[in-house]
Amino acid sequence: MTIAATCPQCEERIDAPDDGEPIRCPRCDCLFPLKRRDTYAEGIQAMPAPIVAAGPCEKAPTLEDQPPPRHGTPRSPFPVAPMLIVVIGILFFLLVFSVGFNIWFVMQPDRGIFNNAARAAEQQAIQQRMIAEQAAQQALMAQQEAQRQQAVQQAEMQALQRQLMEVRTELEVAKRKLEKANEPPNKGGVK
Ligand SMILES: [Zn+2]
Repeated sequence: MTIAATCPQCEERIDAPDDGEPIRCPRCDCLFPLKRRDTYAEGIQAMPAPIVAAGPCEKAPTLEDQPPPRHGTPRSPFPVAPMLIVVIGILFFLLVFSVGFNIWFVMQPDRGIFNNAARAAEQQAIQQRMIAEQAAQQALMAQQEAQRQQAVQQAEMQALQRQLMEVRTELEVAKRKLEKANEPPNKGGVK
């Protein structure tokens, strides 16, 4: 059989078993002992009146009656500690990522090889171009030398031809003189 009790703290009506054990209020969690029933009073009343608690709450963990230690510690509605841990973790991750990226960027072997290869190819191209320019200059000089020699040879040839012409004309003159020396009798005879 149950009895009707009233919570001494929040005055909630509770139907509790009549076994003499203290009752815990389901609304405010108040634990209170019960007054023993008065059998006489029950007998004269048509409906049993609610039994008031025999004593105050033994334990009242409501917001108003929370123990001082829980109130003493500053409880922020925002969970600061986990957020702090998460933020520190993110910052640490970013730091590690940045340092790692820098190390990877500096120590990357392919990049250095690529740069060295490109620089070597560029220097090789410059050297080849210088060699080609030198060769072209040498060819030009050789051509100019050949032209100069050819001009000298032509001049010599022309000089020889001129000398030959002079010799020929002298020979012609001498031949004519000789013919003149030989002719007079014939000429005089013909004329
Ligand atoms: Zn209560």
